[in-house]
Amino acid sequence: MTMDIFDPKAKCEKCKGEEIATVYCGHPLPDKISPKIKEHLHRQCKRCGFNWVEKCLNSEQDISVIDLKEEKR
Ligand SMILES: [Zn+2]
Ligand SMILES: [Zn+2]
Repeated sequence: MTMDIFDPKAKCEKCKGEEIATVYCGHPLPDKISPKIKEHLHRQCKRCGFNWVEKCLNSEQDISVIDLKEEKR
């Protein structure tokens, strides 16, 4: 499973709803879904309730910074 980068204009893939709630979440996701990704955004369609997760826009940058710090230790 791959996570898409946050898209402010995303539409619900189930009902094509355009009103999507966004909630920031700082806890790590299970490694099976997305290793190394800690923070993420939960998206939920306000019409049908379908929900999914997306990467924060700055998540790629955060990961490389963390990796560099770990290599130096
Ligand atoms: Zn979460
Ligand atoms: Zn929907």
